[in-house]
Amino acid sequence: MSDPAQALGSIRRRIASAASGRSVTLVAVGKAQPVEAMRALADAGQSAFGENYVQEALAKRRALQDLPIEWHFIGPLQSNKCREVARGFDWLQSLDREKLVPALSRHRAPDAKPLDVLVQVNIDDESSKSGCRPEQVPALARAVVAAPGLRLRGLMAIPAPAPELERRRAAFRRMRTLFEQLRGTHPSVDTLSLGMSDDFELAIEEGANMVRVGTALFGPRPRQ
Ligand SMILES: *Cc1c(COP(=O)(O)O)cnc(C)c1O
Repeated sequence: MSDPAQALGSIRRRIASAASGRSVTLVAVGKAQPVEAMRALADAGQSAFGENYVQEALAKRRALQDLPIEWHFIGPLQSNKCREVARGFDWLQSLDREKLVPALSRHRAPDAKPLDVLVQVNIDDESSKSGCRPEQVPALARAVVAAPGLRLRGLMAIPAPAPELERRRAAFRRMRTLFEQLRGTHPSVDTLSLGMSDDFELAIEEGANMVRVGTALFGPRPRQ
């Protein structure tokens, strides 16, 4: 799979077959990948790209500014990066604490469309992971809904990399339940972002409608 455009066709077919008619958004995760490979994917019709590091993302945005790309920030967000994320991205998938909300809201340009926000949940309660605890979701969601310039769209999670598929499936199911609860209270909620290269089909079977795929599209990351 050295040709990203060819890999894209194959990933899209696998997504379509797991989704059996539902619509699923593919976010191509370009972290540590060269802009040339991203350009090849964009030329092949891929429009949503995810990045973990603000500086790397902004450099790529400049290099690819002739293309109609939708930029997703998916990495851990530090408070000193809220301005760049609010100004330079279309989506933030990794909001995990309330204290970032005012800065994100303040820095979103008033004439821009709202920043689409997913709350990241630490669904397996791993000490090393970012993400809020499940019970913190309602308060964080309310803060986003109340903030001008931000639009609450749903939830994101990265389950623990359990080798047993059934443990991951259980984590995806807990996320699905949280998602349905949130959707019941907030009508703008429509997105559940779960699943990466090695488990996106499982995530889709369990209800994800956005998947974030890096290595299965681009090959191994050249520098980590
Ligand atoms: C790197 C990353 C991905 C993609 O991981 P792959 O295993 O390469 O598909 C998805 N989501 C997040 C948050 C990531 O950091």
